[in-house]
Amino acid sequence: MNLSVPQEYFKAGKIASKVCEEMAKKTSIGDRVFDICNKVEGMIKNLGGEPAFPCNVGINSVSAHYTAEIDDESTIRNGDVVKIDLGVHINGYIIDTAFTLSFNPDYDLMVKAAKDVLYEAISMVREGVRVGEIGKVIENGASKRGFKVISNLSGHLLQQYKIHGGVSIPNVWVANTPSLKANEVYAIEPFLTTLDGSGVVVDDARRNIYALIGRKRTGDKNLDFLVDQIWNRFKTLPFTARWLIDIFDKKEIKMLLDKLVQVKILHAYPVLVEASKKVVAQFEHTLIPTESGVIVLT
Ligand code: MN
Ligand code: MN
Repeated sequence: MNLSVPQEYFKAGKIASKVCEEMAKKTSIGDRVFDICNKVEGMIKNLGGEPAFPCNVGINSVSAHYTAEIDDESTIRNGDVVKIDLGVHINGYIIDTAFTLSFNPDYDLMVKAAKDVLYEAISMVREGVRVGEIGKVIENGASKRGFKVISNLSGHLLQQYKIHGGVSIPNVWVANTPSLKANEVYAIEPFLTTLDGSGVVVDDARRNIYALIGRKRTGDKNLDFLVDQIWNRFKTLPFTARWLIDIFDKKEIKMLLDKLVQVKILHAYPVLVEASKKVVAQFEHTLIPTESGVIVLT
């Protein structure tokens, strides 16, 4: 087999799996979202990686792009369905993985279905398979288990320092899509909701994950210093205010970040919520297609 991907992927993959395993065992009702995020990000660093993006914790209908605020008081409550989505990078080579924990027996089947659908999709991965075919397997897999996919969230190609590398792996059937290439790295991530859900996510007003999109000077010493710090620490990868409070005032940092969003130096990711507020489950693995099958990195 001619496998030529950077070795960093394998190390980052092992770190990500280890963190998922630990968090799946240790997360329970009463835990603070703030502590979950810090624990995940701390564990990644202790194991020799860097977080590729702030740990996402999505409770119930919150589907993606929520991380703990500086002063986040939210906790896991009895009855919650909790998605933990984490990223590890080494030298910019990114691993992206997620799992769901159910603290509500009503959703155990849906959580299991999301996991089974992911494995069903992975089992068909090999060089040359069209990404739309993977979407079809995910969509049909959800429907035959009595659930609905979130159609406007998808998996993606991963590239160095780029979480979304230009190719999407849809969770629904799409015609005329590109084929998977060997020696490329992809994340597949089905999101499932109940049949009475709308099956799409919408933006809500909250934004607490940011990424640098430009490095132009503002003329404001404080803001320009912040931009330099962001570039030095995170490059163009997503980050959050919690990661900057060692050098900026807790009360000031959100305001500074908002100013950088206004002048289009930063992008702020809206929190994505299921449109009819139904509960969502997600599983995600990072993998490499080969001529004969697949190498799962997580
Ligand atoms: Mn993810
Ligand atoms: Mn992803």
